Amino acid sequence: MASVADEVLEIFAAKGEAAYYGEDVSQLEHALQAAQCAVRDRATEALVVAALVHDIGHLVEGAPEDIADQGVDARHEEVGQAWLAARFGKEVYEPAHLHVAAKRYLCATDAGYFGKLSAASVQSLALQGGPMTGEEVAAFEGNEFYREAVALRRWDDEAKIPGLVTPGLEEYRGMLEAAAKK
Ligand code: FE
Repeated sequence: MASVADEVLEIFAAKGEAAYYGEDVSQLEHALQAAQCAVRDRATEALVVAALVHDIGHLVEGAPEDIADQGVDARHEEVGQAWLAARFGKEVYEPAHLHVAAKRYLCATDAGYFGKLSAASVQSLALQGGPMTGEEVAAFEGNEFYREAVALRRWDDEAKIPGLVTPGLEEYRGMLEAAAKK
């Protein structure tokens, strides 16, 4: 049986060259940049893994690239959640699951955040429900992994730099194996 690390590497090998919706990087480049940001900021290995696989729902589901243009939220975080929860512990799948909500959270709580979002990210925000209300903010802060989700969200936003050179996927094989459900 293929290990979880093999599975992740195979998915990126097969589909990682796909464009990251509306951005100038591929899915694989985006994942590697997000993971590299997590390493830079001395995140736990579980959170580095979460950063690497946070959008794997896009690749597992195979939603069309222009899904946001069609006015449909692919709800990739739900698909990704199920896929990740079958393979990793909650310290990996919860931050990944919450990373879309974290955008709505930051739009409500960080005055400078909205202005830094990319055009595609602003477009999908509307589909995702817009900034959180005060009640939603309080509920979000009740999540065990909300701080990790917010950190992941900031790396996610940063990980869109065309042509940036990063370590490759193999660099994360050991971390993936260590974080995988036994
Ligand atoms: Fe992302």
